[in-house]
Amino acid sequence: MSIEQLARADKKCIINTYGERPLLIVKGCGMRLWDDKGKEYLDFFSGIGVNLLGHCHPNIVSAIKKQSEEFIHTSNLYYIEPQVRLAGLLRKRFEGKCFFANSGAEANEAAIKLTRKYYKEAGLPGKYKIITMEGSFHGRTLATLAATGQRKYHNGFGPLPSGFKYVPFNDISAISQAMDEEVAAVMIEPVQGEGGDNVATDDYLRSLRKLCDERKVILIFDEVQCGLGRTGKFFAYEHAGVVPDVLTLAKPLGGGLPLGVMLARDKIASAFSPGNHASTFGGNPVACAAGIAVIKTIMEENLLENAATMGDYLFKKLSFLKEKNPFITEVRGRGLMVGMELTFDGAEIVTHCLRNGLLINCTAGNFIRFLPALIVTRDEIDEAVSILDSVFRKLNK
Ligand code: PLP
Repeated sequence: MSIEQLARADKKCIINTYGERPLLIVKGCGMRLWDDKGKEYLDFFSGIGVNLLGHCHPNIVSAIKKQSEEFIHTSNLYYIEPQVRLAGLLRKRFEGKCFFANSGAEANEAAIKLTRKYYKEAGLPGKYKIITMEGSFHGRTLATLAATGQRKYHNGFGPLPSGFKYVPFNDISAISQAMDEEVAAVMIEPVQGEGGDNVATDDYLRSLRKLCDERKVILIFDEVQCGLGRTGKFFAYEHAGVVPDVLTLAKPLGGGLPLGVMLARDKIASAFSPGNHASTFGGNPVACAAGIAVIKTIMEENLLENAATMGDYLFKKLSFLKEKNPFITEVRGRGLMVGMELTFDGAEIVTHCLRNGLLINCTAGNFIRFLPALIVTRDEIDEAVSILDSVFRKLNK
């Protein structure tokens, strides 16, 4: 089917939640994608931060192939070896137990449910509220939407589940004031992705950890976007040297297959017992086999180091662009989760970069963001920044 035929068929039979798509991708390899007309694109968006090892990494392809030739699905009513092996690998980095889901929203939903259950079990049913941040994004299910501190995503879907309070990001006194007896948890992204790569300062996260300990409040880190090496450390919270009580991961975890996980410290995890929570597909064997390949490859190929070095390089290159373009108001982010804030809507820039063979994204209206794979090279960063520079000049920005 041509892209025109596809667009017509799509309009007829797919609910319009994504609008018109500008591209039909037919092949991917490493940092590159190709469309139906054979045009090549440098991918600095990685399927919204999913393809951490680039496209079709041989380790992921062979793990998927091998597992799918053995069995693809049974159910969580039987043991699933790849699930246990993946949980074992994660436990080496975070001392806690896993609940596997299929997406970031589901991982966060599990964290919300576990928090409520934990305090019910502890005989404190009135302790159920969760403080989240303005500008946050935690998912599109009703509870995770309610957790998301951006009104624009709530509009039209009320009444939303109650029990969420929003406070300004990076403001410890605002959290302290909001933390009354009913507060059970604080949920925060160490780097806000959809909100425009807002980095929680290390001091703030340390103070938050201390405050949560003092007030007996569970600290939940949503690392769905910033986790698994994206910021140059395995978990983004490692920059601050603090550890949460509950952690959620998704996006890159399944190597492109749907997989999310909520990890909780043993004591909190024990609040869930059989029948409390479940998922038919969560922790699917093929997705978990891919997840094992993702984690092993990150470590074996020293991709954390590459993410840190290339992240610094990209940040520097974007900062040079800022120096010569007054319409770039700020370059921010951490590791390979960086971008630039503009004085105008960034959609037009994204469209022109795409026409010139570079895939990027705009979030929060005027924030151009880059989420390249951890395998990105200096030459590819030079190429991407030079395309962006030429787009700025062509548009007379
Ligand atoms: N949490 C964060 C920080 C995210 O960035 C996202 C998605 O962008 C989600 C949760 C929701 O993940 P999913 O789309 O897999 O449900």
